[in-house]
Amino acid sequence: MKRIAVFCGSSAGKKEDYPMLARALGKAMLDEGMELVYGGAGIGLMGVLADTVLDGGGKVTGVIPDFFSRKEIAHPGLLDLLYVASMHERKRLMAEMSDGFIALPGGFGTLDELFEITTWAQLDLHRKPIGMLNAGGYYDGLFGFMDRMLEEGFVRAAHGSMILRDEDPQRLLRRMRDYEAPEQSKWIDLIKA
Ligand code: AMP
Repeated sequence: MKRIAVFCGSSAGKKEDYPMLARALGKAMLDEGMELVYGGAGIGLMGVLADTVLDGGGKVTGVIPDFFSRKEIAHPGLLDLLYVASMHERKRLMAEMSDGFIALPGGFGTLDELFEITTWAQLDLHRKPIGMLNAGGYYDGLFGFMDRMLEEGFVRAAHGSMILRDEDPQRLLRRMRDYEAPEQSKWIDLIKA
């Protein structure tokens, strides 16, 4: 795992736990010699994470849609900023470029990216590891709902465990390195059904 795409809030959230976790993830990635791929903004947790990796001498690639490229949104310190035509193209490029995916706390944009990449994994379109980092209990409610999706039969057990949940970035990176994708995709199961 060399390059990790991180999805996270374009806001910083209300608790100090969130920027603290973004900084801790940046440091863990630096320690592991990993590169960051992210949405290219200089604001919110996105900015905190990118600054941490850049300040530590790491490589950061931003992938940003043209319509976001107003100076106050794009991170001014990025040497590697790739412009794309749409949000869809951004997601595709980030997915292709990266060896794994992590969601930090965030809002709709973060969850959209996380669940799309998880859906692609479920369909066996990729077999890369996906992690979610929780802080201050932010994702507790969503974790509970994700368990409910399994209990109610909308998600299979093998797919439910595809998203690795953690609170410790170093440990999550280790678990992602050891991750093995489930053998059967939802698509194959559907064809057989
Ligand atoms: P949100 O969680 O709604 O704040 O959205 C954050 C996620 O959506 C990030 O991972 C980005 O890829 C994307 N995104 C949302 N807002 C922006 C922005 N202003 N600049 C760049 N990317 C953004």
